[in-house]
Amino acid sequence: MIEDTIAAIATPSGEGGIAVIRVSGAEAVPICEKLFHAGSKKLTKVPTHTVHYGHIVDPSTGVQVEEALVTVMRAPRSFTKEDVVEISCHGGFVSVRNVLDLLLENGARLAEPGEFTKRAFLNGRIDLSQAEAVIDLIRSKSDRAFRIALKQSEGSLSKKIKELRHQLVELMAHIEVNIDYPEHDVEEMTNTFIKDKCAAALLEIDRLLTTAQQGKILRDGLVTAIVGRPNVGKSSLLNTFAQEERAIVTDIAGTTRDVVEEYVNVNGIPLKLLDTAGIRETSDIVEQIGVEKSRQALADADLILLVFNGAEPLQPDELRMIEELKDRQIIAIINKLDLPQQIEEEQLNAAFGEECVVRMSLLRQQGIDDLEKAIAGIFFSGQVESSDLTYVSNSRHIQLLKQAKHSLDEAYTATEQYVPIDMVQIDIRRAWEHLGEIIGDSVGDSLIDQIFSQFCLGK
Ligand code: GDP
Ligand code: ZN
Repeated sequence: MIEDTIAAIATPSGEGGIAVIRVSGAEAVPICEKLFHAGSKKLTKVPTHTVHYGHIVDPSTGVQVEEALVTVMRAPRSFTKEDVVEISCHGGFVSVRNVLDLLLENGARLAEPGEFTKRAFLNGRIDLSQAEAVIDLIRSKSDRAFRIALKQSEGSLSKKIKELRHQLVELMAHIEVNIDYPEHDVEEMTNTFIKDKCAAALLEIDRLLTTAQQGKILRDGLVTAIVGRPNVGKSSLLNTFAQEERAIVTDIAGTTRDVVEEYVNVNGIPLKLLDTAGIRETSDIVEQIGVEKSRQALADADLILLVFNGAEPLQPDELRMIEELKDRQIIAIINKLDLPQQIEEEQLNAAFGEECVVRMSLLRQQGIDDLEKAIAGIFFSGQVESSDLTYVSNSRHIQLLKQAKHSLDEAYTATEQYVPIDMVQIDIRRAWEHLGEIIGDSVGDSLIDQIFSQFCLGK
């Protein structure tokens, strides 16, 4: 089992009001007692779930390092199900670092990223899909994504998966009985029974999978490319998104070279804007679309914001671009509405549909609501927002659901062809195992390590 005691700073690094250091393991309380002075109080003697005020003192020098509030939570009523001590100190990074160093000098080990959550999982406090939801919580880029991750960490997906697995176990038990007592001659009935049960499970898996696309967008952002000729207002659009207070959530240098990714939040829908320098700033756009990186960004985009200057007629290269992109998910933006209009708007309506053409003046900040509405319209098109917020958003979960679906499909087809039921049983069992992997049953150690290594330190 897990023997050593781990410690890490649990709050984001930088200048914060309060910083929390979390210590977990069998020795958590005795180690902290060596550093913590509060009169004659002994941490090893205090009741569980109590908070204590005192000072952190370096035991080797007797120097007082920090003022601190210390919370003691004994196993198993803690996040990791181990003894946990949380030390809150005010502050600056240096003093927090000092306290952590003292803990490490006195018997704790620095936690690996995700190790607290991993222990919670290994000690049976949470299942794997809940642990992954904790990763998503830390990373979530919009309110909506946050609520979904929260729901998942509370176990709404696990609950659905467990129900499904329970149905399959019942089915397998039923088949087992039939294999053991073949003289009962109920094969025909059993076949129908298996088919019905498989169909019901398939329906539920399909329902979960339809939420996947939306869930993925909520998690990773609707990948959006801003495209158009020079001077039509692409940078202005980007800045408009970025300036709004609710807008910028985070900047991440893109994984694709030369394409900067920027996350903005439009009414709770996260957009991952691909700022394609190549397309943006050169004179010959169509030629530039041929440039690999720009083409890649365009190919990857879920949504293309195609910007036009309304004060000019459509240009030849724009007509070619309309032709090339007309089957994609496009919002055409006619900008510079404040100037006399010359653009052939009807042509854009015909190509993209009226609801996907938005008129704006970025200079006067007009039309922004319309653009936001159009984006929301696309996001929710044909999809009703799942009211119970059980979205499947994790690509590992999606993959496993698809595999489970495949196995059940095979089982279903096999019963139609009157394949011997012990063969059908194998497919059903496989589906049951795939579903189990989602919540961490029957998962190999290496996968578990891989999943938990995605965490930030201290979680
Ligand atoms: P980009 O080259 O496509 O990125 O275009 P910019 O955003 O850099 O804008 C080019 C020029 O058009 C700048 O001088 C902007 O101030 C101007 N501009 C942008 N939007 C509008 C608008 O709605 N009306 C007017 N009159 N000018 C605009
Ligand atoms: Zn620009």
